[in-house]
Amino acid sequence: MSAIHEFEGIQALADALRQGRLSAAELAGEALRAARAHGDSKLFLHIDEDLTLAQAREADAAIAAGRAGPLTGIPIAHKDLFVTRGWRTTAASRMLADYVSPFDATVVARLHEAGAVSLGKLSCDEFAMGSANENAVGGPVRNPWDPDRIPGGSSGGSAAAVAARLVLGATGTDTGGSVRQPAALCGVSGIKPTYGTVSRYGIVAYASSLDQAGPIARSARDLVPLLDAISGFDPLDSTSLQTCDGRANAPGRVLADYRQACERLQAAGARPLEGLRIGVPREFFNEGLAAEVGAAIEAALSVFESLGARRVEISLPRTALSIPAYYVIAPAEASSNLSRYDGVRYGHRAANYGDLADMTSRSRTEGFGDEVRRRILVGTYVLSHGYYDAYYLQAQRVRRMIADDFRKAFAEDCDLIMGPVTPTVARRIGDNRQDPIADWLGDIYTLGVSLAGLPGMSIPCGFGGGSRPLPIGLQIIGNYFDEGRLLALADRYQQATDWHQRTPGQQ
Ligand code: GLN
Repeated sequence: MSAIHEFEGIQALADALRQGRLSAAELAGEALRAARAHGDSKLFLHIDEDLTLAQAREADAAIAAGRAGPLTGIPIAHKDLFVTRGWRTTAASRMLADYVSPFDATVVARLHEAGAVSLGKLSCDEFAMGSANENAVGGPVRNPWDPDRIPGGSSGGSAAAVAARLVLGATGTDTGGSVRQPAALCGVSGIKPTYGTVSRYGIVAYASSLDQAGPIARSARDLVPLLDAISGFDPLDSTSLQTCDGRANAPGRVLADYRQACERLQAAGARPLEGLRIGVPREFFNEGLAAEVGAAIEAALSVFESLGARRVEISLPRTALSIPAYYVIAPAEASSNLSRYDGVRYGHRAANYGDLADMTSRSRTEGFGDEVRRRILVGTYVLSHGYYDAYYLQAQRVRRMIADDFRKAFAEDCDLIMGPVTPTVARRIGDNRQDPIADWLGDIYTLGVSLAGLPGMSIPCGFGGGSRPLPIGLQIIGNYFDEGRLLALADRYQQATDWHQRTPGQQ
């Protein structure tokens, strides 16, 4: 167990570092030992002590020079989908087994500049395809609350590392729910911001019109400095937003002052949410929702009501269509993005082959796992001549209609939306092995937000699972650029509850 356990959050640890109660190098050394000794050897895919300690020494120098910021010396780790100059980047795939990037992803570079110290690379589903972290090349990651259960995916390693208190924060990516869903299943907090808020430069591409990075941490309070550090315009990503209102175009932040949003709500008195309308989509409380998850969401909604918010029932009529729409669009984009792994330029190349076509075919067959191959086949099919109109174009139309449902809800009925993240608590490892589609259906509450490009977050709101408690997450969905409000509301909720402080083994 490292010193990370003793501190309530990032701010407390940053204060201790600034006051010289411990050094970033000591902390990093301890954190590395804890990471190596951790019971789940599949969690970290790559650790390099020298690289971590070098970053820690830089942090100590910044502290000594009075240049420390809110993240200086704070131990974090990256999903192995973000390219890193030192550590290998494999996307948890055999295809990229030995790949070392010549540059850092923008997110990685920004966290480094902000003084955070990376412990290394965390497992995930191969190329971020999955909901269970079972598709990782090294084997499945375990949920710290119950090692027989999945941590969720695809950013399962990130959520598990935060839940196990090995790091204070971790990066994740969310294409259809991969920040929110593992955060929910591991009892930690995560936010997927508005599409375009965080640069995709240096993130191994899955489905580019959906991929968006977001941080995972214990609490909303801890998410604030992390999102602050990684968000903002990046000229290296053509879909990076400059500002929401078209003002400045200099590299830097997109918009909101997340910290100020939280502080404003702190100062707002006993019923700080007076006048706030929370939309609760009827379609999220369908027959697939486990009773214990529904009950935890209800209890969370009453906390918001006691703070002054009003609950309104809304409808997102195309919720069920988000599954077929997403599972056409995402594989279509994936089939295009993954065509670059041809055994020629980089990535795995088969040892034995005949002609060029045979080399590509063998390299791809050997390099990709089952789920990735399944998606490439589906994606290639829906894009092919004769099927494009019937599937891909149709899915794009449905995508627009789903975005319209959200637009209408925010324009007419509510200020934000709340509901479950997942239909059930974490399932057992291996349970859906015979039926890959079963996991796809579990994405029902997260996909719409991704298709619409909206911000969404997950915060812990209770437990289910009987004798062995398993976390449940509350999803908060905002209108475009409403990250500040989401974080502030989540923070206010976390002042009133202590779900986010529970740790595996001692709840
Ligand atoms: N479960 C979804 C999928 O497998 C979402 C994954 C993600 O957000 N990266 O595509």
